[in-house]
Order: sequence, then C-alpha cells, then structure tokens
Amino acid sequence: MPEGDVVYRAAGRLGRALDGRVLTRSDFRVPRHATADLTGRTVLENVSRGKHLLTRIEGGLTVHTHLRMDGSWQISPATRRPPPGDVVRLVLANAEWQAVGVRLGVVDLVTTDEERRLVGHLGPDLLGPDWDPAEAVRRLSERPGTAIGEALLDQRNLAGIGTIYRAETLFLAGVSPWRPVGAVEDVGRVVTLAQRLMHANRERPERVTTGDLRPGRGSWVYGRAGRPCLRCGQRISRGEMGAQPQERLIFWCRHCQPGEPTG
Ligand SMILES: [Zn+2]
Repeated sequence: MPEGDVVYRAAGRLGRALDGRVLTRSDFRVPRHATADLTGRTVLENVSRGKHLLTRIEGGLTVHTHLRMDGSWQISPATRRPPPGDVVRLVLANAEWQAVGVRLGVVDLVTTDEERRLVGHLGPDLLGPDWDPAEAVRRLSERPGTAIGEALLDQRNLAGIGTIYRAETLFLAGVSPWRPVGAVEDVGRVVTLAQRLMHANRERPERVTTGDLRPGRGSWVYGRAGRPCLRCGQRISRGEMGAQPQERLIFWCRHCQPGEPTG
C-alpha cells in the first residue's frame, strides 16, 4: 500500500516528465472519462496531497488519481508502447515522455475548482508545505475514544500515513497502537515523529526508519512479527485493527509499547 512518501515521489517524477509541456496524447481507460481528450493542453503542475495526486492542466482542469492498493506511475520515453493488458488506467504523454498510470484505484477528471470536494476533507499533509501539527493534534483529539493506531490511518486527521508509518511511529513513541487517543500522553510528539520519519524518507525509494540502510534492518517492528525487538529483545507482535480490510496489519512490541487493553 503506497503511503504519503511514495505518492510525493510520484508527483515529483510526473512533474519532471510532464510539467510545462504540451500533451500530445491522453488516454483515459476508465468508462466515466473514456472520451476525454486533453491533447494540446499544457500540464501546469503535479502535486501530492496525502495519498492523492493532482495533475493540474491548462484550462482549469485537474486529473485526480489515487494509487490505492498497488497502483503506480511508470514514466518512459514517449515512443515506448504502454504495457499490454487491462492494467493501464491512464496515459498522459508529450513529445518526449509518457506517464502510464497502472492499476490506479481512482482516475477522475474535474475542474480545478472542484479539487476541494475531492481532497478538502483531508487533514494536514505530512509532506505538504502547509503541514500543521497543531491542527493534526486537534483533529485527532476530537475522537478521544478511538485507538491511536486507527486514528493515525484516518486521513481526515492527518494525511499520508499507512500501515508502515503507523507501526514505526508508534514504536518510536513507545505507545501501544490500542491505546485510546485520549489516553496518549503526548499526541503532539506522535504526529511530529510521524512527520519526521516520512520527511526523512521522501526522496529515497528504500524506506528506512531505523537509520540502518542495510537490507532487512530498515524497520523497528513493521514486517518483523516473531523476531526479537531491536530494543528489548522480546518477540514483535502482529495483529489486525481498523475497518478497511487492506489496512489492518499492525506490528508492535508489547514490552516497549505497553498499555494494551485487557479483555
Ligand atoms: Zn521492545
């Protein structure tokens, strides 16, 4: 599941290939926009907002995309054929480059005025220029009974966190994912940690939260169920939480992150 840092980098790659150039081809392979044609329009900019991507186009249009579970953007020379089969959802190309959106979970074409309707509900973006930790804390604290592990994935509170940053952040904060937000001592520290982790990884494809770039050493708890905690040596636990089936996985250390509810 791509998290905010992956989407941030995708916006950067799309921008380098498309921004300031005239589209020579657009191919929407979603029923709703199958007849849309952006040929002849200049791409103004590509920006990420949490896990959402906005491609702003001359003439007041915005292409809104979301990678969801396993979507990706492939950039290649314009002369290359897009991958075959039914995985391609969108192609945007200029004279030099083509951007191929594969398995995108959302492809929408709206007027730029309508962006707010699509991303206006999002909380502060961890990688946005307008990152506002106090506002993130305020939103999280509105539902004090929600488990902090669930609340961090709710994009209305803060935008960009997925299962990996959730697990790693809560480990570093020493907070059990099951603890209610209202019982977390310092929610501000949790959101600041999450932002620092994601910001440090925003330009590199290998996500590392331990500071150790060696293979298999990059995470404290995520993907390490049953292996010894790097701090205390106890076995890392793995469980499920949250409503969305694809976002359930949680990893934590029972010793370093106490406070699990009993019963
Ligand atoms: Zn531990």
